[in-house]
Amino acid sequence: MTNKKNILQDSHGRDHAYLRISLIERCNLRCTYCMPEQGVQLSPKSHLMTYEEIYEIAKTFVKHGVTKIRLTGGEPLIRKDIPVILEKLATLPVELSITSNAVIIDKFIDVLKANGVKKINVSLDSLDAAKFKHITRRHEFEKVYNNILLLVKEGFTVKVNAVLMKGFNDNEIIDFIHFTKDLPISVRFIEFMPFDGNKWDMSKMVSYVEVMNYVNASFSKDRVVRLEDAPNDTSKNYKIEGYKGSFAIISSVTNPFCDSCNRLRLTANGHLKNCLFSSTESDLLTTLRTGKPIESIIQKAVQAKFKVRGGMDTLEKLQEPKLHNNNRSMITIGG
Ligand code: SAM
Ligand code: SF4
Repeated sequence: MTNKKNILQDSHGRDHAYLRISLIERCNLRCTYCMPEQGVQLSPKSHLMTYEEIYEIAKTFVKHGVTKIRLTGGEPLIRKDIPVILEKLATLPVELSITSNAVIIDKFIDVLKANGVKKINVSLDSLDAAKFKHITRRHEFEKVYNNILLLVKEGFTVKVNAVLMKGFNDNEIIDFIHFTKDLPISVRFIEFMPFDGNKWDMSKMVSYVEVMNYVNASFSKDRVVRLEDAPNDTSKNYKIEGYKGSFAIISSVTNPFCDSCNRLRLTANGHLKNCLFSSTESDLLTTLRTGKPIESIIQKAVQAKFKVRGGMDTLEKLQEPKLHNNNRSMITIGG
């Protein structure tokens, strides 16, 4: 039984108004930091949420206070019924957004607009086609690059996510910032995070402080403007004076933003994850399929949320493989 209290408030007083729904475990890219080379064990199709089930679960969360839903994956746009999912979710009173690798997003401009999607996050880890191929194991640089330009032209608010890895793309930090000179986008540098099978090690990660060292070595202090971060923002935002766009750093490893976390994640097989780093999850789909209410499971999962990074509150714990290897690969969580 659920009690009367807000079921989306955790034991640390955090309210969760933001739900990320992963629509699919598969992807048309193979980013090395996101999935192991051999791929991941996929759930049988019958274990994945149908569009009706996605809608039913989303509706329950909205009833209890969710106001923002972001669709992710895997690659959400390769799911065949994505137009119907968008149409169904667009009937809910939420801000609907999507995170995509943008390889095929040009085919969805009209459907995204028709369903009120205004904010799109696109992954792009290099501005160099050969490096893009190396990291994604696919030759799709031109499409992604051109589609980012197309999205801007079509009036979407675009954020470009770049996961930084030492010796691979940290020498492109300034090129990425120059990319914001004439384009009104936000480039977000993401600290490389540990997930099952991604061969993470701390020495590969480029930290917030290191990014700012690059920035301060290239731009005079008075040109680097600290912007106000939005409430519950996971990033620290900056811009270069006179540039149309901005840049930000997401420092989940060196400087987690857990205090203001308002996010919950629903995996494509209908499991609720209360934190990106949590090694436990709660199966909502099986209960939904029996026709029983899912509120009490949601409440229990939210209550169990750790204060910091799924319980890995120190860098030492984060570096302990046995703690983060119990988690899924990112491709099956939905970033
Ligand atoms: N396919 C879509 C895309 O790439 O934008 C959506 C899913 S992807 C898992 C969501 C985000 O997670 C991407 O921005 C990606 O860069 C990020 N991500 C994946 N693995 C990561 C890792 N190990 N550390 C940091 N970010 C990661
Ligand atoms: Fe696919 Fe996105 Fe993962 Fe890259 S980061 S493999 S595009 S899900």
